[in-house]
Amino acid sequence: MVMRGAKPEFALPGEPEVQTPPQIQVGSFKVAFLTDGLWLNDGGCMFGVVPRELWKKDHPPDDQNRIRLNLTCPLIIRGSDAVLVDTGIGNRLRDVERRIFGHDDGWLPDGLKAMGMEPGDVTHVVLSHLHFDHCGGVVRRRDTGGFAAAFPRARCFVQRGEIEVARSGGNERLRAAYRHAAECLEPIKDMLEPIAGDTLIIPGVRALVTGGHTTDHQVIMAQDGGEAFVHLADIVPTRSHMKGPWNQAYDLDALTTMERKADYLGRAAAGKWWVSFAHDDRIFTAHVVREQGKLKLSDALAVPDHYGSGLPAGRI
Ligand SMILES: [Zn+2]
Repeated sequence: MVMRGAKPEFALPGEPEVQTPPQIQVGSFKVAFLTDGLWLNDGGCMFGVVPRELWKKDHPPDDQNRIRLNLTCPLIIRGSDAVLVDTGIGNRLRDVERRIFGHDDGWLPDGLKAMGMEPGDVTHVVLSHLHFDHCGGVVRRRDTGGFAAAFPRARCFVQRGEIEVARSGGNERLRAAYRHAAECLEPIKDMLEPIAGDTLIIPGVRALVTGGHTTDHQVIMAQDGGEAFVHLADIVPTRSHMKGPWNQAYDLDALTTMERKADYLGRAAAGKWWVSFAHDDRIFTAHVVREQGKLKLSDALAVPDHYGSGLPAGRI
């Protein structure tokens, strides 16, 4: 049951006309696939122990070994509830970081506008974890300097353990991974609701802890009327990461990532769930099917071809 937008296209930031984000229906929920735009990141970091020769055809790297990635942020809507899952990079990067990651001001405000919504209409924000490419867009840089909450009326949900790690600064690797966190958390401190373990966000929508990528990484699932959708965030960041050993170098515990993604993808195939990934540059969402023992995608809602990143899209 796919409800596609009239034209599944977005305008680039600054262009006057923005098309409606592609959508699916999941029971009584509408799930719209907003994006904070494409970006670039090192292919080696994205695929960990997998040799470049194996990933480069599906994810062609540029001369700096960067690959094309998306910042998929599903918006789960029912009635007056609008639950935004992750917030992308946003507009907080400095010039040098914008060049490194090939990302500008972010597209979430444009996507909302195309749906006839404003940032103040988002009632809940659920962050899978606090890396900069997931929580950066929870704030917006103000013209007058400093940062303000990007979704000023939303309740913001993050695992308590993730917040503690982000604030602890106790380890060199973790310090680097969360060096942006204070800047993102301070403007939303009165909206932040730390949660501990699996949590009901609104009836039918749950945050479910997976660990793996970070110790308290969570995925978000919507279920209604026998239908289901799950955003797998960074335990399956792209279609290629559906393969067991294909995991990010960033994963703190790749073995847990492998266990959890096998479990979720297996249940998604059995239950005909829609799934989405944090960073796939070609696919917003799809059904998972098992064919001759292998997991594949069907009914894919594609990312429009004209999305710009300066890099050609890889094979699906
Ligand atoms: Zn990520």
